[in-house]
Amino acid sequence: VAKASTERGHLRYLPQMDQDAGEQARLGAEMRTALDEGQFRVFYQPIVSLPEGRIVSVEALVRWDHPVRGFVSPAEFISVAEQNGLIVELGEWILRESCAQAVAWRDAYGEKAPQRMSVNVSARQLAEPRFPELVASVLASSGLPAAGLVVEVTETAVFGGGRTVQAVNEIHALGVRIALDDFGTGHSSLTLLQTVPVDILKVDKSFVDNITMAGRHAVIATALIMVSDGLGLMAVAEGVETAEQAAELHRLGYRLAQGYYFGKPSPEPEFDAVNEAVRPGSAVRPGR
Ligand code: C2E
Ligand code: MG
Ligand code: MG
Ligand code: MG
Repeated sequence: VAKASTERGHLRYLPQMDQDAGEQARLGAEMRTALDEGQFRVFYQPIVSLPEGRIVSVEALVRWDHPVRGFVSPAEFISVAEQNGLIVELGEWILRESCAQAVAWRDAYGEKAPQRMSVNVSARQLAEPRFPELVASVLASSGLPAAGLVVEVTETAVFGGGRTVQAVNEIHALGVRIALDDFGTGHSSLTLLQTVPVDILKVDKSFVDNITMAGRHAVIATALIMVSDGLGLMAVAEGVETAEQAAELHRLGYRLAQGYYFGKPSPEPEFDAVNEAVRPGSAVRPGR
């Protein structure tokens, strides 16, 4: 039985792999043109305070506005860009674009503008010897203060080898905040928190998903806020989709959250609007 199912799995698997490989090669080849023709866009997703739902920062999330396919997800093309190296050029563009946007919002909205701009940085970018210099020069040319920028890295990227750990230290020394993305997933180790200067823990959506269910579901979310508080870090709960989750996170001690409930990534979030986390009937009560 085992063999038969292996063979069946095999037969289904191989053509799929070929398709994916062909698909990836095509995407990779089209990326050069896409960069030259300006098909990439940066969308911004609010990161809000709990329980008020005030936008305190935004995360820059790249989109590919493909002439034929429409919007292509970064989940599809970032790994391809890492493999063919175009992430270095694309990443530099994203950094410039989002820092310029942060400054434009400061000019337009003043105090209502987000305090920080969070930018994802991949392993390949972090390994570039000149990356910390690039960050410094983009800050200088855009006029964004270093404290207004957050660089989001994953544990895999930090332990990517070469000078990635040193790069994180250099970026942090500029005054830029370091966020550890998707925390608790992948090859997580708490060792990392002692190895690099982390300011923000982004607690992965998977620990938020079942948080309002009875039983053990909230245990890890609870443990992670304790680690975060104990180390004096800021914790951001990722992927919050419901009022109930927001209320439970607040009850557990989370002060920052991000997710479709508060706002999807968009070209220009509404900074004037307050996405109230506190709704009639919700469990969150300010001051408790
Ligand atoms: P990430 O950095 O963990 O970003 C969060 C992802 O979760 C985003 O997906 C966001 O749209 C999605 N998300 C936010 N709230 C919710 C929610 O409530 N429910 C659900 N189901 N999803 C939610 P997105 O934009 O597709 O990006 C996927 C990943 O691609 C990112 O994960 C990040 O690792 C990478 N990525 C995106 N933009 C960039 C970029 O500019 N540079 C680099 N290097 N990587 C990027
Ligand atoms: Mg991120
Ligand atoms: Mg994340
Ligand atoms: Mg994530």
